[in-house]
Amino acid sequence: ETVSIRTSTNQYDVVVGNGLIEQISNFLPKDYSNILVISDETVYEQYGERIKNGLGNRKIAHSIVPAGEASKNINNYYKLLTNALNQELDRKALIIALGGGMIGDLAGFVASTYMRGIDFIQVPTTILAHDSSVGGKVAINHEKGKNMIGSFYPPTAVIYDINTLRTLPQREIRSGYAEIMKHGLISSHSFFEECLNTDLTNTLSDQTLKDQLVKGIKVKADIVQRDEKESNIRKFLNFGHTLGHAIEAEAGYGNMTHGEAVAIGMLFALQLSETIYHKPMPFDSLYEWMKRNKYPVHVKGFEMSRLIKRMKMDKKAENANIQMVLLQDIGKPSVYTIDDNVLLTQLKKFAEKVG
Ligand code: NAD
Ligand code: ZN
Repeated sequence: ETVSIRTSTNQYDVVVGNGLIEQISNFLPKDYSNILVISDETVYEQYGERIKNGLGNRKIAHSIVPAGEASKNINNYYKLLTNALNQELDRKALIIALGGGMIGDLAGFVASTYMRGIDFIQVPTTILAHDSSVGGKVAINHEKGKNMIGSFYPPTAVIYDINTLRTLPQREIRSGYAEIMKHGLISSHSFFEECLNTDLTNTLSDQTLKDQLVKGIKVKADIVQRDEKESNIRKFLNFGHTLGHAIEAEAGYGNMTHGEAVAIGMLFALQLSETIYHKPMPFDSLYEWMKRNKYPVHVKGFEMSRLIKRMKMDKKAENANIQMVLLQDIGKPSVYTIDDNVLLTQLKKFAEKVG
């Protein structure tokens, strides 16, 4: 299945299917002669040969960085540029990002600045990357903060071979699926219900995976097409992320995955939505789903005042008051500016509920 995404500067297709890596040549929009594949060690070990075979008789090089968020740094960025120069990539060359969101962001940022920008194609290999590969944001981290150095640079194509998802560790499945759940919650009752009925402790069928990934991609695509540069409705994609980012950072990166932290953030946002908008929210359903699927749910270990401080540091908190995305209803997100005292009271209440 193919989802087409239009931006102000280009249009690209997100192709979702089985066994696409082996036939990647058929999906290249141009006949590139010089290609650099950027990947991490774990992913390249599993899928490197396959993608090379799929690319056939072209000049192909690869640059591999260690797996993990720590690789999204300026040293690797510089090394990758050097490799691209050594490989004599010119303005007509192609960079392929083979991996999860870390690789997509890093390789995309390389592509966006190499000779003022060359084509790049995302080949996502995680569930989370259904989110990160769409929308055109690419970045690396600065020691002072995540994604502090980056740009908007849409890919030339996204080729999503869901066969690669079969080797994902369970916690990466949980992490990525939280973003599908987010797309469900901010888009429609039916998509949300479908997510709630998904059991991550069992192997998901190809059909379920494809169907839900495509739905998630469409939700994201719809929003970014209407708001490319995060002025307004793009903020809706931040649902669950204000507290989520704070928890992720406080837990220490690596101790909790992004999606696990975001899931807790979404649960809290449901409680808050109910309080603010006086509308019944499926707090218990999401809570039970999270427990069934082995998401960590406890927040007792965190100091609430530190979480609030973190939330203020989040780059999305534009001034002193914290802005959060809440739901007026399932599928009806809105941005709400919250008072610190209300936030603290609600966080305490939340901690009492979930432990
Ligand atoms: P990741 O790319 O680090 O992948 C997670 C882990 O899974 C890694 O250890 C990786 O080696 C392994 N892995 C990847 N594919 C695998 C496979 N098929 N089989 C086995 N193991 C595999 O992380 P992620 O969760 O995919 O993405 C997180 C990153 O995405 C963060 O850097 C975040 O900032 C970024 N992100 C970007 C956007 C955006 O809009 N650009 C949006 C959300 C997140
Ligand atoms: Zn996220």
